Amino acid sequence: MSPSPAAPARDRLRIAIQKKGRLADPARALLTACGLSWRESRDKLFCFGESLPVDLLLVRDDDIPGLIADGVCDLGIVGFNELDEQAKARRQIGMSDAYQSLRALPFGDCRLMLGIPEEWEWSGVDMLQGKRIATSYPAILTAWLAERGIKADVVELSGSVEIAPKLGTADLIADLVSSGATLRANQLKPVEILMESTAVLAGPVDELTDSRAGLMAMLLRRLDGINASREQKLVMFSAADEALPSIGSLLPAGAELIRLPGTAQPARLQAMCPSGLSWQQLEEIERAGASQLMVLAVEKSLA
Ligand code: ATP
Ligand code: ZN
Repeated sequence: MSPSPAAPARDRLRIAIQKKGRLADPARALLTACGLSWRESRDKLFCFGESLPVDLLLVRDDDIPGLIADGVCDLGIVGFNELDEQAKARRQIGMSDAYQSLRALPFGDCRLMLGIPEEWEWSGVDMLQGKRIATSYPAILTAWLAERGIKADVVELSGSVEIAPKLGTADLIADLVSSGATLRANQLKPVEILMESTAVLAGPVDELTDSRAGLMAMLLRRLDGINASREQKLVMFSAADEALPSIGSLLPAGAELIRLPGTAQPARLQAMCPSGLSWQQLEEIERAGASQLMVLAVEKSLA
């Protein structure tokens, strides 16, 4: 057999995001914060990148892992739950891994949980032997049950999983939960966490080799900068040199104290702190000899 021809080099990066749903707006907001902009075509499938050669494909979240696996898209923003479900399903039929989570993102938090009828008393996973469990995450549930040596029927449903016990198609469910309100509305209660999930930036297992690799590295660096700066605060103040040791000991761990150039006394100083400071901490720093204290939020940082 002749080797398959190498995929043609592409010079634009393509990111798949959810078209409509919980992850659609936060995914766009995050990519916008990374400095990307597009020729707006919100209702269409494709958005052409203007500020950088980075285009968007707007799709159903279920399609995102496959689009990365097939090389149609280079990156995707998808729930870890969906990514892991499809990865496990591939492994169960002997396929190799084709995508991976590159970064966890600060939205889309949820848990995949077992929900049982309210009237049941939960006595542990052995209760699940022989039961029928409805879920949209059959591969995750199957692996979870197997790890615990439980033999149960996994009933795969693509939606409205929470009404399965009422309809009699299952005894209990495994479904995504954030507040638990949907479970309660269906007379179910959450009892076991199968997985904690957030949205992730997913990418291929194999590294890109053409000019998209540079674009991807730049995007990741900007994302990391956004993540790092979320908690970071820049503290500025004036203080005499002899007060610096005690002020330094009051700053959060990891804070880097820098004396700004100039000979004025008291000297002007700044400290980049990895976390915020409470009012009490600021007052202690003031008592230790700092004046003109100012705490600034860090919008962007390239570490
Ligand atoms: P699509 O039409 O794209 O298939 P969907 O109905 O599968 O949409 P959403 O309900 O928008 O998807 O959920 C997308 C993702 O949001 C989930 O896969 C999960 O990662 C995350 N999420 C966060 N909280 C919840 C929740 N309470 N219920 C469901 N998903 C949640
Ligand atoms: Zn979906």
